[in-house]
Amino acid sequence: MLNVVLFGPPGAGKGTQAKKLKERYGLIHISTGDLLREEVSSRSKLGLEAQKIMTQGKLVSDKIVIGIIKSKLHNNMSSNGFIFDGFPRTEAQAIALDNLLEDNKLAISIMLSLEVSENELIQRLLDRGKNSGRSDDQNIDIIKSRIVEYNIKTSILIDYYKKESKYKGVNGMGDIKTITERLFNLIDII
Ligand code: AMP
Repeated sequence: MLNVVLFGPPGAGKGTQAKKLKERYGLIHISTGDLLREEVSSRSKLGLEAQKIMTQGKLVSDKIVIGIIKSKLHNNMSSNGFIFDGFPRTEAQAIALDNLLEDNKLAISIMLSLEVSENELIQRLLDRGKNSGRSDDQNIDIIKSRIVEYNIKTSILIDYYKKESKYKGVNGMGDIKTITERLFNLIDII
């Protein structure tokens, strides 16, 4: 099984590139942002709780996020592997993911970290906000808060995966096709 953590700040291109990896390697794409937005649209109890936090650009609790990942993994254990997009975002999530995979004799194969300058992230998110309908992409204060959350709580995971010798930094600037090739090249030599 090929299990990829596609990592990077908001606006780094994780969702776009996850689709390319999914097509090429036949993986299951798990985006916790998408799963949470589904909960919000269905107005479930969990969705309503998550929505308050998401609209502030903060991280939803580990308990909620790990819970939704658990069932998604459980239902797809016979697949070719997974792409984790926007997860893990805290050390507790990274440990939970390792444990969940280990329970099934699996492990993360590689962590690909898309590197993009902060100015470019803000521009991309504002551009996306014009079409995506996502309110958290349309407000500069929420965008900045999401980037701060990434810098404080999430970027530390680079060290976590470095310790496991799974981290690969990838230049996330340039055209989409070139970035996809960079990712393919790193996966193909695993
Ligand atoms: P994303 O679509 O990945 O940009 O996520 C949108 C929002 O969903 C984030 O700003 C968080 O509020 C929430 N979210 C998504 N994934 C996670 C996660 N792994 N941990 C905590 N909150 C998350």
